[in-house]
Amino acid sequence: MSFKKWAVWLLAVCTVFASLAQFGMSQSLPNMAADPQIMAAWRQVSAQRIQATVQKLVSFGTRLTLSAQDPQSIAKGRGIGAAREWIKSEFERYSLDCGGCLQVKTDSFAEGPADRIPKATQITNVYAVLKGTDPGNAKRVVLVTGHYDSRNSDTLDVNGDAPGANDDASGTAVSLECARVLSKLKFPATIIFLTVAGEEQGLNGSRHFARMAKEQGWNVEGVLNNDIVGGDRSAEQDHSVVRVFSEGIPAAASEQDLRRIRGLGGESDSASRQLARYIVEVDRTYQTGMIPTMAFRQDRYLRGGDHYSFNQQGFAAVRLTEFREDFHHQHQNVRTENGTEYGDLVKFVDFDYVERVARLNAATLGSLAAAPAPAANVHLLTKDLENDSTLTWDASPGGLATAYEVLWRSTTSPVWEHAQNVGNVTRTTMKLSKDNVVFAVRALDKAGHRSLAVVPTPER
Ligand SMILES: [Zn+2]
Repeated sequence: MSFKKWAVWLLAVCTVFASLAQFGMSQSLPNMAADPQIMAAWRQVSAQRIQATVQKLVSFGTRLTLSAQDPQSIAKGRGIGAAREWIKSEFERYSLDCGGCLQVKTDSFAEGPADRIPKATQITNVYAVLKGTDPGNAKRVVLVTGHYDSRNSDTLDVNGDAPGANDDASGTAVSLECARVLSKLKFPATIIFLTVAGEEQGLNGSRHFARMAKEQGWNVEGVLNNDIVGGDRSAEQDHSVVRVFSEGIPAAASEQDLRRIRGLGGESDSASRQLARYIVEVDRTYQTGMIPTMAFRQDRYLRGGDHYSFNQQGFAAVRLTEFREDFHHQHQNVRTENGTEYGDLVKFVDFDYVERVARLNAATLGSLAAAPAPAANVHLLTKDLENDSTLTWDASPGGLATAYEVLWRSTTSPVWEHAQNVGNVTRTTMKLSKDNVVFAVRALDKAGHRSLAVVPTPER
């Protein structure tokens, strides 16, 4: 080998080692441990059950928030009142099957007159609570939601049919099916299975619920909003993928938060984005058959959803939506025009697709509810100029954590790249420059359940 060739070779080797030293020589991100009970639970999610739920919801003719909810209409089975009573009875039936393990509740309030609500209207959210079994962790809440109201071309048409099979009987079915399969298990933290109304009139139901959660000081760690998860059968649909939308800059960020985000590059590290990344890791671990693909934006262009209500109150919340929507099958009167079928009908829903979305939800909810609480008050010490990085945190509240992992990634990477188990400590120094990577800390228990990751704030 000539000296020149040898020098080039040496340079190449040095470069590789330098970059390894830069980004750490520890293992790349390990999979979370798969919990056999959670695995068994999500496998019970059934396309047939989901299909029966969607068909039942569509059978109420319309579920417009402004539609009938008087006793006669409920008895006849038409309108949102009948849908609400049926959802409640379903949750109650699941609860009977688990010895009364679910608390079935309603959150009912009068809204309007308002923009899309011409006269005062009673809006009712229906939900079931699977109370956490660990006294130190039962106050922690993870939540899944879908909206059971529907609409057709006219948001004020109280009488016309509005089947809403995909939007959003599919998401409602995900909440119900997760309740059915997860209620057979016990988790240290609480899971809430929510179905809201008023989405199509202006997110009224979720706004009321999220405000209630905030006012009552609920510790909501994560919200999964499933809206339009029917996998519409149009030709261009990708039936293997579900989109997960998450806000970058939090809707509830203070001026101080915004200054820090601007200064340090925190645009991709909201708590909602950590939740989105968590879903991706759950998929890697459990392989539920549905690939979550993250969309780094709050929602689709000019569109909104119930996760935003939770974001506004400072909660981590994401939206799951099918890969490609067919706008002929949303918010449309049922009709055929020039050979094109319009309307949100049952026949356009792919129930195997919804099944896999529900499985991903169930695995995520179970993983979060089984895990220790996230580490609290995570800080990165910045008093001195140095190339090492010292992180400190308070122990995960609730006593489930037996160790902590420090995660990191390059500032341009969408996902966590590396993890190092640092043991059961609340302070560690990493031989990495804080200026070159993004850090986070997460708690784990002895079975390998992982909490959500928490990005540090600087401490002088
Ligand atoms: Zn919707």
